[in-house]
Amino acid sequence: MKKMNEIDFKSKFNVIAGPCAVESYDSLFEIASFLQGLGVQIIRGGSFKLRTSVDSFQGLGEEAIRYLVQVCQELGLFSLTEVVELRDLHSVFQDVDVLMVGARNMYNYPLLKELSMVDKPIILKRAMSATIKEWLSAAEYLQANGNDNIILCERGIRTFETATRNTLDLSAVPIVKSMSDYPIIVDPSHSTGNSEFVPSMSMAAVAAGADGLIIEIHKEPEKSLSDAKQLLDFESFEDLYKAVNSLKNYLG
Ligand code: PEP
Ligand code: MN
Repeated sequence: MKKMNEIDFKSKFNVIAGPCAVESYDSLFEIASFLQGLGVQIIRGGSFKLRTSVDSFQGLGEEAIRYLVQVCQELGLFSLTEVVELRDLHSVFQDVDVLMVGARNMYNYPLLKELSMVDKPIILKRAMSATIKEWLSAAEYLQANGNDNIILCERGIRTFETATRNTLDLSAVPIVKSMSDYPIIVDPSHSTGNSEFVPSMSMAAVAAGADGLIIEIHKEPEKSLSDAKQLLDFESFEDLYKAVNSLKNYLG
């Protein structure tokens, strides 16, 4: 199926959603079909997962990317996954529409430099302990060779607080906007680490002026192979998606 529009975060609000990690072709197809029905256009799906523990599920790797690209092509959606390895950049990730640099790689300058030569939208997540200035400097690496399709993503920073997985720094949204022209989206899933708090933080992000959200969902969150606690099920995502869009329309 043909994709509808160009990916545009500068003049359009986008909600990106999908599983933490691609787990199988069928489960991804089910999630993506559900999202397509709601009007979501960009599907996230982890492939090479950077997990804190080596014993945790590491993702399906290239197989995940094949499923992601195939499902998105069939449904006319855009695919998004995190790019991890410099050496895979021009091969394995070639057919993915949007690339994401995860928090753990924000300081990987060789990777950022190489990505600056890629003609695709790139989402740059904020590292756990990066200042806004360091984050903007990392974005400049991505721009070094003319890629001007860079989107920043606030995903929470590490503080003394342990009630959440990370502390969502929503003040980063207006600050980034005052300091740069980059669109900025918010990840309420990895910041809170808890599905209970994803809806309120999503609404707060919209109110703060975010250009989009990236939210993890799963058909049966408790069965997910990664990040089970923070995933929204279909029903909660649908409610949130509608609420976010009406708030966005109200705010104009
Ligand atoms: C992700 O979005 O899949 C992810 C691993 O997030 P982060 O890099 O923010 O931890
Ligand atoms: Mn995750």
